[in-house]
Amino acid sequence: MSVYFEVYEIVKDIPRGRILTYGLISNLLEKRLSAQGVGWALRALSNDKTNKKYHSGNVPWHRVINSTGGISTSRNTEMQPDLQQSLLEAEGIVFNSEGKLDMQKYLWSERLLCLIIAALMTASLFVLPAYSKPTPEQALQELKAGNKRYLSGKTNHFEVDSVRREMTAINGQKPVAIVLGCSDSRVPVEMVFDQGLAELFVVRVAGNVCATSELASIEYGVKYLGIPLVIVLGHSDCGAVKAAVDSAVNGSLLPGNLPTIMSKIAPAVAATRRSHPTEKGDQLVHSSAIANVWMSANDMLSNSSIVKEAVYSGKVKIVGAMRDLKTGAITFLGEYPQPARLMSKQSTK
Ligand SMILES: [Zn+2]
Repeated sequence: MSVYFEVYEIVKDIPRGRILTYGLISNLLEKRLSAQGVGWALRALSNDKTNKKYHSGNVPWHRVINSTGGISTSRNTEMQPDLQQSLLEAEGIVFNSEGKLDMQKYLWSERLLCLIIAALMTASLFVLPAYSKPTPEQALQELKAGNKRYLSGKTNHFEVDSVRREMTAINGQKPVAIVLGCSDSRVPVEMVFDQGLAELFVVRVAGNVCATSELASIEYGVKYLGIPLVIVLGHSDCGAVKAAVDSAVNGSLLPGNLPTIMSKIAPAVAATRRSHPTEKGDQLVHSSAIANVWMSANDMLSNSSIVKEAVYSGKVKIVGAMRDLKTGAITFLGEYPQPARLMSKQSTK
């Protein structure tokens, strides 16, 4: 059975006046379809009335909402958000002035509880269907869409509820991407990509450098979790990069173990000063931060045969990105190595 039909089978059973969320249905399908994919499945519901089993008049698509208790306008433009709200109101569901309903009151929790108990009782008795892993490009699109949702304030993928916790405890993790990011508290990775529990494999270290321990963590994600995408996420106004620039320009020294991190950033600063000799101050820090993203990407590719094999065989993409602390926007800088270089490497194999 197509996974879309499995979505319809779940949705068909939602009783009148009750709701499920895209994310919960995704959980019920063991994440074989993302929350976004559940939205796509419902959008694909046939309007053809001759398809008696699965058409929009027979599957109550309107009883599926986003995890904040609202109607997802981004995903359901073709399904008419106003119509969805009025259909739910006709079933006695009350929305507040912000267009949100009371999740505690209307969530179809009995079904979820039964499924958790069933999964716990039979976990060792059957093999779950194969998880359809996203391609590197699909994973990248999901993160781009996630940052857009974060910026718009309409987060609908932030699955951190108890059902999600139980499901991931039983079924393990299947993150969509590895993110190597800075420890800076202003860059909370799951939040800025609008991803929930078990959806990102995050490695955080000041200056998003890629030394041995960081690389070993990334290798684990690539080799054992089969994650198709690695994002190296730098950010504006990075204290670690600032310190490395200060050290290069003024010869200042940091105490304790901090020089270990500085030594990883120093080559990026030196390369930036060579290529942009007139840059100073904030401009030099910003250019160095971007160079440092590529330095980390280069480190993970150069120092790991696991990562190298995965990238050159096309199983994994490494993508650089920068987050602007003020706007929250993430600028995707492209792939590493650049696709043209990757192609020539693949064709000479
Ligand atoms: Zn930083």
